[in-house]
Amino acid sequence: TKFTDLGLNESLLKALAEDGYETPTPIQAKAIPLLLDGRDVLGIAQTGTGKTAAFALPMLQRLMDSNRRAGPKGCRALILTPTRELAVQINDSIKSYGRHLRHRTACIFGGVGMNPQIRALSGGVDLLIATPGRLIDLMNQGYVRFDKVEEFVLDEADRMLDMGFVRDVRKVVDRLPGDRHTLLFSATMPTGVRDLADGLLRDPVKVEV
Ligand code: AMP
Repeated sequence: TKFTDLGLNESLLKALAEDGYETPTPIQAKAIPLLLDGRDVLGIAQTGTGKTAAFALPMLQRLMDSNRRAGPKGCRALILTPTRELAVQINDSIKSYGRHLRHRTACIFGGVGMNPQIRALSGGVDLLIATPGRLIDLMNQGYVRFDKVEEFVLDEADRMLDMGFVRDVRKVVDRLPGDRHTLLFSATMPTGVRDLADGLLRDPVKVEV
């Protein structure tokens, strides 16, 4: 399989070629066509498998193809990830893969001042990458809303549970529109993750690598 066989548009293919990506990894080859097609996916994959591009590329393409706009304080795509390091990595990857597209992103995590994050959110963003604790803080203060979310990714769901974020995750999920596209990634599938997946995904395809 080549990247050009997966249904990705020219802007994304150009960025991948410039980055020297030649062959999709197994998770990319399996998940990208399903996600472009709008299927919910349950991905069993670890960091290092290329899972970031597997969700980020179809997400960018679907956001471009849909002409909706997020209102003030809203976002159209939400990626929840357990740690600041992962959030920053995902943000960097998305900036890179999406550099030939027009989109606005914000990255939200704890341990730093809130004001720059509040400013970034205030006009509405296309893509929001966040850790749960800070996101809930900003949500409770009315700085972010989720009523226009079209695309949702829950990354590293097993670590999310291990770190005690399950209630925060559920609080966010409760605010998401029912009519959305969802992807859940986890390296392992303990009961807690299975329960979360059952509540989140609609007729999912399981993709394992
Ligand atoms: P991830 O599992 O998403 O954290 O990605 C692991 C690393 O692999 C990152 O540094 C990516 O830039 C790189 N990577 C992801 N997909 C590919 C690919 N198809 N070809 C070459 N490198 C890749």
